[in-house]
Amino acid sequence: MNLNDQPRPWQLARRAEAMNPSAIREILKVTERPGILNFAGGLPSPETFPVAAMHAACAAILGEGSSIAKPSLQYAASEGLPELREWVATEMGKQGATVSPDQVLITTGSQQGLDLIAKVLIDAGAPVMVETPTYLGALQAFTPMEPHIESVDSDGEGVLPEALRKQLAAMPERPRFMYLLPNFQNPTGRTMPEARREAVLAVCREFGLPVVEDNPYGELWFDQAPPRPLLARWPEGVIYLGSFSKILAPGLRLGYVIAPSALYPKLLQAKQAADLHTPGFNQRLVAEVIRDGFLDQHVPTIRTRYHAQRDAMVSALTRELGPTGATWTEPKGGMFIWVRLPEGLNAQALLPAAVDAGMAFVPGAPFYARDPDMRTLRLSFVTSTPEQIDRGMAALAQVIREALSR
Ligand code: PMP
Repeated sequence: MNLNDQPRPWQLARRAEAMNPSAIREILKVTERPGILNFAGGLPSPETFPVAAMHAACAAILGEGSSIAKPSLQYAASEGLPELREWVATEMGKQGATVSPDQVLITTGSQQGLDLIAKVLIDAGAPVMVETPTYLGALQAFTPMEPHIESVDSDGEGVLPEALRKQLAAMPERPRFMYLLPNFQNPTGRTMPEARREAVLAVCREFGLPVVEDNPYGELWFDQAPPRPLLARWPEGVIYLGSFSKILAPGLRLGYVIAPSALYPKLLQAKQAADLHTPGFNQRLVAEVIRDGFLDQHVPTIRTRYHAQRDAMVSALTRELGPTGATWTEPKGGMFIWVRLPEGLNAQALLPAAVDAGMAFVPGAPFYARDPDMRTLRLSFVTSTPEQIDRGMAALAQVIREALSR
């Protein structure tokens, strides 16, 4: 129903008309039945949340005689807490990127970074390039600014450089940016290898196409850290997004944007308009928790846990889904596996039967800007035990076999 057909007084802005409920939220409602084995969510494992460290940090901030108790409850700078901005710059330095703290904007989750970037860089009708498939939340952030979203063919290593070149050469207008997820991508789990990073960036440089590099999962590698970030390779052409959600806790809503200095003031103004600043208490809390190298001990425990869960899911898939003709990715980090069902099946159509059989996944269609591959689906492996993974994959295989036999 179109609200504009309703009696006044409210008339929606065009951008509000363009907004959609998150397809995933809608789907998750179906999956929230008690007892369901849920592989649909995108949540980190709560087992990894460092509650004791958070508790100690709260006590330190608010305890008697603390000099930062009141500042932590006061309005704060829009740019973010200096200690955190410095920490981000130092961490990026370890990954080969020269970043000044002045380029770091602390945001209310990296999701807000996507929203600010959309506001600052997208005019209605302007082209924006994305991977096929891509993070649904980015599509949601970009869409209200009414871009023309162009999706670029991709394979197991990310965007195909030649496809990108061909598409750019045929475009009358230079796109505002290309949105890329080089590490353990949501939804596919894939990672861009070294050579692909160079090849894609060469095309971007050639066409003067700036890049938005989104990296919430990069630290969650299993055997080996991923190649250097794109930011390290093209500092003036890349905006970088990072997050504390997957290495500490998403409920803090803490992320960051690293922007070239030419762009920083505009993002800062958009940030001020959005929420003045990121919650100061949460910033103090994280600064306190990570101060003495806490993450150097903590993040490896997350890697070990997720690694074992990935292994469990890959073995279960091999055993249960292998014989059905389905295929899947084997991510080297992150939280997700991407499955392609046998020919003739449709993941969205299969979901109700899967839920009836006691398990849930996310169909892949919402992750495509256009021409969805209806055979695809996303599985999260981080919030289930190996035993639950075994049962869940067996249930999925059974549902697939039944669908194939019809
Ligand atoms: N980018 C990607 C690819 C994500 O998967 C997520 C979280 N689902 C975000 C950004 C947003 O994360 P946050 O706002 O919690 O930092």
